[in-house]
Amino acid sequence: MEFQWVIVGAGFSGCVLAERLATQLDQKVLVIEKRDHIGGNAYDCHDEHGVLIHKYGPHLFHTNSKKVWEYLSQFTEWTRYQHRVLAMIEGKGVPVPFNLNSLHTLFPAHYATHIEEKLILTYGLGKKIPILEMLKSTDEDLKHLAEYIYQKVFYGYTLKQWGMKPEELDSSVTARVPIYISKDDRYFQDQYQGVPNLGYHALFKKMLAHPNIKILMKTDFHEVKNSIHYSKLIYTGPIDAFFDYKYGKLPYRSLKFTPYHFTDRNSYQDAAQVNYPNEYDFTRITEYKKLTQQKVPGTTIILEEASSYVPGENEPYYPVPRKENNVLYQKYKRDVEQLENHWFVGRLADYKYYNMDQVVARALHLFEKEIIKDIS
Ligand code: FAD
Ligand code: UDP
Repeated sequence: MEFQWVIVGAGFSGCVLAERLATQLDQKVLVIEKRDHIGGNAYDCHDEHGVLIHKYGPHLFHTNSKKVWEYLSQFTEWTRYQHRVLAMIEGKGVPVPFNLNSLHTLFPAHYATHIEEKLILTYGLGKKIPILEMLKSTDEDLKHLAEYIYQKVFYGYTLKQWGMKPEELDSSVTARVPIYISKDDRYFQDQYQGVPNLGYHALFKKMLAHPNIKILMKTDFHEVKNSIHYSKLIYTGPIDAFFDYKYGKLPYRSLKFTPYHFTDRNSYQDAAQVNYPNEYDFTRITEYKKLTQQKVPGTTIILEEASSYVPGENEPYYPVPRKENNVLYQKYKRDVEQLENHWFVGRLADYKYYNMDQVVARALHLFEKEIIKDIS
């Protein structure tokens, strides 16, 4: 087989680049995907009870980039959904990111009001403070609050999710869910938020529906690379696997998803996502119909439990942001720079804890700044 372009992986990175190459540059593209579906980790499907679920964990689209939002809006309309998350703390469902409402849910009114005033005075209304920052507070009350939040919201969850304490990871990880000096309970404050109205799979199908794009499903690139001829390669899989782990394995975290369906109830929990920082082995439960807003009898929930990634046994879902892992990643990256006509992009190939909008922005940038120039 002879192709101008081979793209390894049909997640957001691969799909954006296949779509751009086919529609903007009239290039012929072969997308190779080892799973039996397109969409990567953002894939969704109906379970056997007709409930639309996200197979690899809850995917909420949120961005401040008008460009990314408008680009994707060519392929989908949106269900405008604003994500809200509760964490079970001392038997109560408490809003996270931890905010002024969380304070009032957990503490007596007099004390909560006193601390609220102090938080506003110290940090300012509307400010977001990473937990590892707030722990440095010299004010006795705020230090005490920070230690409480650290213990009750972050410590157990992070141990389960990453197998490490918050301070053993790059501070950007827990900074994703900062203490929010606000009464806004939304998980994200981005300008554009939602889920594709017909689901992510429909969005990906539309992106790849072009005569220049062929898809080879259920095929591992590493098993076919010697029998496929191509001029240029875009790789979106794990970067260490591409180089046969020559400098050692990069750690990724994996997840186990356990679904339950209830025919006898229409609602399971008070929010689409409930986190369990302190009890159980799982980290969170997602109730999908609350997120997709699908009208369907019964309800499906999925529990998530994290573990280490073992190639061949489970899937790599999260790069692990830590200094030493970045040092190892840089070694592989230097090797990528020596290769001609190869581009590495995406959460696994860049070894970066990207959200979907960041992956789309990264792929569009690569296309506009490097690939177009390379072709012309
Ligand atoms: P992927 O989606 O991982 O796609 C890579 C593809 O390459 C996969 O389909 C894989 O099978 C394929 N592949 C790998 N190696 C090979 C090979 N050798 N041969 C052939 N195919 C190969 N982002 C948000 O913005 N909002 C959210 O709410 C959100 N929630 C998330 C929840 C979870 C549990 C996870 C894991 C991620 C979440 N994300 C979320 C992040 C989002 O999933 C990613 O940013 C995005 O899907 C990354 O796209 P990608 O194309 O880079 O990688
Ligand atoms: N986190 C936590 N408790 C929570 C929510 C998040 O400790 O209730 C920490 C945890 O380390 C987690 C990180 O913040 O991995 C990022 O959370 P996010 O919800 O962004 O994770 P994702 O949706 O990407 O799994």
